[in-house]
Amino acid sequence: MVPISQAWTVATYVLKQKLAGRKRYPLVLMLEPLFRCNLACAGCGKIQYPAHILKAELSPEDCFRAVEECGTPMVSIPGGEPLLHPQMPEIVAGLVARKKYVYMCTNALLLKEKLHLFKPSKYLSFSVHLDGQKEHHDFAVCREGGHDIAMEGVRAAVAAGFRVTTNTTLFDGADPNSVRAHFDELMAAGVESMMVSPGYTYEKAPDQTHFLGKARSRRLFQAILSNRKKSWEFNTHPLFSEFLMGKRDFECTPWGMPTFSIFGWQKPCYLLQDGYADTFQELLDTTEWENYGAKSGNPRCANCMVHSGHEASAVDYNFGSLKGFLVTAKKYMFPSTYEDAHAMKLLNEWPKATHAPLVQIASPVKTAAELQEVSGD
Ligand code: SF4
Repeated sequence: MVPISQAWTVATYVLKQKLAGRKRYPLVLMLEPLFRCNLACAGCGKIQYPAHILKAELSPEDCFRAVEECGTPMVSIPGGEPLLHPQMPEIVAGLVARKKYVYMCTNALLLKEKLHLFKPSKYLSFSVHLDGQKEHHDFAVCREGGHDIAMEGVRAAVAAGFRVTTNTTLFDGADPNSVRAHFDELMAAGVESMMVSPGYTYEKAPDQTHFLGKARSRRLFQAILSNRKKSWEFNTHPLFSEFLMGKRDFECTPWGMPTFSIFGWQKPCYLLQDGYADTFQELLDTTEWENYGAKSGNPRCANCMVHSGHEASAVDYNFGSLKGFLVTAKKYMFPSTYEDAHAMKLLNEWPKATHAPLVQIASPVKTAAELQEVSGD
């Protein structure tokens, strides 16, 4: 669940868009202030850029201009690793001053040591990237010990009074029993809520073999999210969770979470790069939206179920009709644990995942000294 003040801000924002008759409106700005990172995950499509691109970054003014242009109530800051941006505290403070709900996505390798640069606020949440229990996370991010450092960052941020959420990306080979145990560990560490989403086949990602097709995604999420524990809190829309479990279908709304980076406004979504626009309005006006989403027949969209393309669809359905509103209100008032005997059997019979030995992929940032240098300290 998200705090009531945040839910209220988002609800009134969406209602205003609906009353204004806007067919395409943004919900969350995906603000990518830099692409460089202190990890080199096998499933990531962001850090394969040449060195001069990895060195570039958005200024605080660029970030504020983008936020004001598109006007979303929420801003997610992925990357790259945002904590490597020397002006990140200034960027976050500026967004908080504008009363934007900020999710700063971080691998948390630097979180503990940089916490003092931020102030706890209801507008700021550290969204820590944790792909599973220790062995699985270290394998996914190609860094031995990455899980323990991230969990230390989580605990330090919780203890310092910050809102801490997590995001977990799953690929083929994920073990649903282990993912459920991972959820238990996260809640025990004091995180506010969790987000889980299937990965996407980035053309630039080093590992092209472990992405999930739609049917396999639904089966995996059915096993993970059915028969859920009451202690688990998710910060995604309940209907997006049902979409992942195959209980309902949504078309993608790629304009719902537009992406702004050093290249400009990315067409059409966070995942594909079919050109850039100089302004948000130009993005809306010049993108051929009908060429995207599962129904378009675009092969790059065929297996996509990612959060950035489909959660805004669930929110739009929520506010698009009385039925959508009543269905969603019921989900929030009487949260279901999705008891499902078939899913329980699936879970019990799921073969235990086995990984090949962990391969550490060289990050552009290798040593402690380099880490200090790129982090701007
Ligand atoms: S379906 Fe996925 S890849 Fe295609 S436009 Fe939507 S978010 Fe992007």
